[in-house]
Order: sequence, then structure tokens, then C-alpha cells
Amino acid sequence: MTFAMQERPGEFTSFDFPAGVPAPFNMAAAILSNFEMLSTKEKLLMVPGLLPMLLEGQPFIDAQDELSVLEFMRKYGMPERINEEIFIAMGKALDFIDPDKLSMTVILTAMNRFINEADGSQTAFLDGNQPERLCAPMVSHIEAKGGTVRLNAPVRQILTHEDGSISGLTMSDGSVLTADMYVSAMPVDVFKRMTPTAWSTLPYFQQFDELEGIPVINVHIWFDRKLQSVDGLCFSRSPLLSVYADMSTTCAEYYDEEASMLELVFAPCSPIAGSDVNWIAKSDEEIIDATMGELARLFPNEIANDPAWPATSSQTARGTAKLVKHAVVRVPRSVYAATPGRNKYRPSQASPISNLVMAGDWTSQKFLGSMEGAVLAGKLAAELVSDRALGGQGQPLKPVQEAIITRAAAATPKQPVGVRGDFPIAFGGGSQGVGSEASHP
Ligand SMILES: Cc1cc2nc3c(=O)[nH]c(=O)nc-3n(C[C@H](O)[C@H](O)[C@H](O)COP(=O)(O)OP(=O)(O)OC[C@H]3O[C@@H](n4cnc5c(N)ncnc54)[C@H](O)[C@@H]3O)c2cc1C
Repeated sequence: MTFAMQERPGEFTSFDFPAGVPAPFNMAAAILSNFEMLSTKEKLLMVPGLLPMLLEGQPFIDAQDELSVLEFMRKYGMPERINEEIFIAMGKALDFIDPDKLSMTVILTAMNRFINEADGSQTAFLDGNQPERLCAPMVSHIEAKGGTVRLNAPVRQILTHEDGSISGLTMSDGSVLTADMYVSAMPVDVFKRMTPTAWSTLPYFQQFDELEGIPVINVHIWFDRKLQSVDGLCFSRSPLLSVYADMSTTCAEYYDEEASMLELVFAPCSPIAGSDVNWIAKSDEEIIDATMGELARLFPNEIANDPAWPATSSQTARGTAKLVKHAVVRVPRSVYAATPGRNKYRPSQASPISNLVMAGDWTSQKFLGSMEGAVLAGKLAAELVSDRALGGQGQPLKPVQEAIITRAAAATPKQPVGVRGDFPIAFGGGSQGVGSEASHP
């Protein structure tokens, strides 16, 4: 794990988990051998908060969901510098929000992986673009087994029988699909707009109102020359940026020894995530200028003073790298915001509807709202479908909170508002540009 040094711009430090050493000893070695971010005293002051996780495991992690990262730190007497040095970077990377808004369970879930799995801290990159390198092999696998994959075929409406079970799905072309079982992997914000009237007062679906996607921005910048580059993911530890990678070094398809292409996560990017500025509504030029200002601080000897980007104006003549082109992708509703107390509202894959199974990273599973969380939720959903096909019951329904049950009892049925528009953003994806200027990659 590589971190930009806050006090020494242009320099990086890393926590090196030694190869061949089992967890958690490799994590201990990584922390103890890094003297650039935390002092020995600060490392020792982390122990009271982290020891219960080692001893009690998942129940302790789950129980911390009601506390924000800052509340947890105060409770266990952790010094503020641990927040500044480590937790801000982790919060922005794991959920795109600041630690005062983030549930401590998120940080502990990540740390638990480091403690229990020798390679739990590893980050990895695909060797090329997702459609070809990730999605196409999955499609081939499904087709080889006799399945069909239909792209650009959104579900418009979920149709129900008298008893509430699904009778079919109306697709965007007006056709109706029917099946024995239906699995939804839609994001929570989309599902809420599609919930059929017959389900709208059921506690299981009412709890979805407690979950909401967090906005984030992804920035791509091409430079005219190569920057100092780390082969992997970097925690930028700058106020506006989260993690970034130089794709010209980390990714085979974009490999280039002459010029860098950075992909950066811009977070927090709106007040709900902890930013004073609603960056997601700003123009591309404003976002890129702010990003260039942060990059100038990260790479003081490399980024040029470029009048096109006023935030670089304090750069000296030492910096020569200039931006060639850029792209800004806004995702107004990305992963669910893991603010304190959300875990108890994440639904089980089992639903109260006899032929509906839920999936998606936001459903209940031990990983975070992430790619591996989405995969695990999918596996749990598949298990449930096959258990039921074999005549079993499979995973039980997760109990719904009493307060939600009370609220549901007084609720009046609601018509689904449906998804408006055919753009990816309407289905939880991203867009370039704002307002009427939006275009969709
Ligand atoms: C900028 C950014 C950076 C990230 N970085 C990381 C990272 O480094 N590591 C990591 O693990 N995770 C990362 N994530 C999070 C990760 O992308 C998500 O956790 C993951 O994609 C969730 O998968 P999912 O299948 O649950 O949902 P999604 O990927 O959102 O997929 C839902 C799908 O449902 C489709 N859909 C919606 N409505 C309908 C409908 N009505 N009919 C048909 N289809 C519909 C959508 O088009 C979409 O394809 C990042 C996210 C963002 C935005």
C-alpha cells in the first residue's frame, strides 16, 4: 500500500507486507517497519481499538456500525494523527466519504482482511478494459453453458400476481419476460424506483429507504510526458483526491514509457460526502483545474505552470508536464453511503417474495459495497436459487428492524416512479458533462 507523504510533497511511503509471512504477522511487520507515517507511540495507541477485533472477530466489527470513525477513535483514545495519516485516506478510498461521516465497520472490515488473509491488502488491476477483459469472458462462459446475455435491455416494470409474486418483467422494448425465479442485481436507488405497489408497504422493501448511493467523480488525465510513477494504487492523501493510479505503468493495455495517463478518484465530491463544495455540479474545467492544483502539490517537480489551469500558477519552471486531454465521469449514485448504522438495513438475498432473490453489493454480505461484495452477493443469491430448486429453503430472511416494521404498518401503498431516460446514469452509471450537456460513455 503506497501513500503520498503529506509533509514531503513529491515523496511516497509504503506499508510493505513481506511475502511468505502469514497474516496477521505480515501486517504487523508492515506497520512496525514503516516509521514515516506513525510514531511507535501512535502505533501502540491503535492497539486498544484493534485488539477486540482480533479477539472477537466479526461480531465486534458488526457492533461498531453505529459509530463513525471519529466516534470510535475517541472511544478508544486513538490520537487524531491516526485519522489524518491513515483513516481519512481509507475512508475516501473505501466509500468516497470523510471519517466523520463513515461507519467504523467499513475501516474494520478492511483491516480484518489484512489481519486474516496474507494477501488481503493487495490491490490489483485488470490488464485491459473491463468490457473485453472482464465482461466478455463471463458472457462466453454463460453462453457456453446454454445461457443468453441481453445487453441494453433494461427492465421497465416488475409485474406481480395477486399474491405479490412476480408474474413477469416488462422490458424497455415492451416485451414481457417470464421466468421461474427472478434475481435483481440493480443498485438500491434504481430498485426503489421500480418497487411494485404491492410490495411498497412490506418492511423488507421499506428498509431500502435507509440506503442511498453516494456521489463520486472519476477523472482521467493524459500528460505529454511520463510522471514519477508507482506501479500500483496510490493513496493521494490530498483534500480533494482519493486513490489514483498511473495507468501507463499499472495496466498492460495502456502501458506507455513516454507519457502518463492518470485515473483518479475525486472524493468527497458533494456535501453529503463531506465536501464544502458540490463538485459534482461544477464544470469539467473547474474539476480539472482543482485536480491539477492537487497534482501540482503531489508532483511539485513535475507538473508545469500552465495558464490553462490557474491552480498550477505557483509551479516553478522545474515542472514541465502538461495536460494533453482529460475526461470527467460523474457518478451521482455510486456505492451505498456507509454512514453509521446502515448495515442493519442491508437486506438478505432471501426476500419475502417467493420468486425474487436479491443481489448487488448493497445486499447483506460480509464484504463492503465493492466489486468483491457484488461477487459474494451474487454467489449467495445463486446458492439460494439452487437450494430452492432442490426443494430446500436456503438462507433465511434477515430480520427487519422493529422501527421499520412499525413505519411499514402505517405506510400507504406507492406507485413505482420508474426509471426515466435510457442513459447509464438513470441506471446507476456515470456521465460526462452536466445538465443538458451530459453525454454518456
Ligand atoms: C469511481 C468508482 C471507483 C470504484 N473503485 C472500486 C475499486 O477500486 N474496488 C472495488 O471493489 N469497487 C470499486 N467501486 C465500486 C464498484 O464499482 C461497485 O461496488 C460494484 O460495481 C457494484 O456492483 P453491482 O453489480 O452491485 O452494481 P453495479 O455495478 O452498479 O451494476 C448494476 C447493474 O444493473 C444495471 N441496471 C440498473 N437498473 C436496471 C434495469 N432496470 N434493468 C436492467 N439493468 C439495470 C446497471 O446498468 C448496472 O449494469 C468503484 C465505484 C466507482 C463509481
